[in-house]
Amino acid sequence: MTDTIFGKIVSGEIPTEFVYEDEHCVAINDINPQAPVHVLVIPKRAIAKLADAKQDDRELLGHLMWAAGEVARKLGVEDAFRLIVNNGAGVGQTVFHLHLHILAGSSLAESRM
Ligand code: IMP
Repeated sequence: MTDTIFGKIVSGEIPTEFVYEDEHCVAINDINPQAPVHVLVIPKRAIAKLADAKQDDRELLGHLMWAAGEVARKLGVEDAFRLIVNNGAGVGQTVFHLHLHILAGSSLAESRM
């Protein structure tokens, strides 16, 4: 499925540097970072939004969480990072291909969600 920008990035149609890649997902730097570290973990299998995930996607969802930890370790922020998933336009989801935001850096120290 390549009908979103993330689908095109995952498929290679839009060449993008991957911070991390494995058989199930890639991670890229956000084009409009909201923190000193802002990386997106994107599954290769396209799911429009979290609430659309099926029972068969459960293993993949767990894998994405694990991969986020791997990426955080790789970037040296494993002791202080935040994960965000926007589900639906009503909370600001703009790309309808599931992704996890990894946010880290000093600017987050005072804010909690
Ligand atoms: P959402 O609001 O949770 O859907 O997040 C989408 C994110 O994708 C935003 O933070 C955008 O800045 C980011 N984004 C959109 N297009 C690109 C791109 O081509 N490369 C990297 N990040 C992108």
